[in-house]
Amino acid sequence: MADRAPYLNARLQGFTTTIFAEMSALALATGSVNLGQGYPDTDGSAEIAEAAIAAIRDGHNQYPPGPGVLVLREAIAEHQRAFYGLDYDPESEVLVTTGATEAIAATLLALCEVGDEVVMFEPFYDSYAACAALAGAHLRVVPLDPPDWSFDPGALQDAITSSTRLVLVNSPHNPTGKVFNHAELSAIAELCVQHDLLAVTDEVYEHLIFEGVHLPLAGFPGMRERTVTISSAGKTFSFTGWKVGWACASPPLVAAVRSVKQFLTYVSGAPFQYAIAGALAAGSRYFEPIANELRTGRDLFCAGLADIGFEVYRPAATYFVTTDISPIDEGDAMAFCMGLPERCGVVAIPSSVFYADPESGRSLVRWAFSKRLEVLDAALGRLQRLAR
Ligand code: PMP
Ligand code: GLN
Repeated sequence: MADRAPYLNARLQGFTTTIFAEMSALALATGSVNLGQGYPDTDGSAEIAEAAIAAIRDGHNQYPPGPGVLVLREAIAEHQRAFYGLDYDPESEVLVTTGATEAIAATLLALCEVGDEVVMFEPFYDSYAACAALAGAHLRVVPLDPPDWSFDPGALQDAITSSTRLVLVNSPHNPTGKVFNHAELSAIAELCVQHDLLAVTDEVYEHLIFEGVHLPLAGFPGMRERTVTISSAGKTFSFTGWKVGWACASPPLVAAVRSVKQFLTYVSGAPFQYAIAGALAAGSRYFEPIANELRTGRDLFCAGLADIGFEVYRPAATYFVTTDISPIDEGDAMAFCMGLPERCGVVAIPSSVFYADPESGRSLVRWAFSKRLEVLDAALGRLQRLAR
């Protein structure tokens, strides 16, 4: 058998273990404060948790419908209408998935032919490159430049070729915490229309915003029919382990994504869908306290990192802040993060993993501040050792 190794196919050779799993294991092994993987260390509302328990007791324990339970699809459609004025038919234009992760995978697998090109902004969330590789598609990246992570519209134009199938946009953006503004989204929309491209958006942090407003790309002229809008309940309600996500798009796009989803997971967990349907229907009652707490954490943590000497790129949204480590460490971010548990008892993510060419992010580190204030304080105390 040995002569048949490696078993992982060639397309995925660069994608063995996710950095998040690797760094969480390192945090556990070293007893470090884990500011690597983005998850909150406080669960979401007990009321929502009770609704999931009630759904189990009520017997929602067998396969739900493939597209998701109707009450959740209706709640998602109502959410898109109430927050963004976007109308989706719950029957034909909404698909429930196993987290946004499955929605992204199913969408890229559904829409891309082998050899197609996918345009995305860099740095990018790690699953995008892996899913493009699964689909046999090639990446074309457009850099987002610090300190404000803006992009050159000319670079976006240049990234589009006759092989481009779609543009993938993540706003609010992981890892930078950037919220794409109206002018940026307009520029993206105009190019999509001009070149007749599809768009896929990842909006999982849509309700975790501290400054600015979230504008779905699907709301821009000419975009409603060509955009697959993806989001999920994990971040919005602080239940990242429930893995309830969704995709909204025109009927033929949803039908294409559903065709793939049915062979990946067939259906997604039933009781959680009922609980999230109720939570979404309650509107902003749940979102605001979570965003407010995160804002406090962001302020505390960004100020602390700046005091230590990092160059801090203050995020407008999400769980994450990016720093440039150059003022305090001459090495690269990967070496810095691998050594940090031993040096300080803290785990962070080297942002180089979010770049097609790791050299581009060699001095950048991402920290998750989605933790209790006392945990952030403890981490800052430990990081004082780095202060110059
Ligand atoms: N997209 C982005 C930008 C993320 O940060 C994450 C991780 N939280 C996901 C997608 C995955 O979301 P889910 O947990 O719903 O699969
Ligand atoms: N989205 C989370 C992050 O960026 C992690 C989710 C995962 O582990 N895949 O940290």
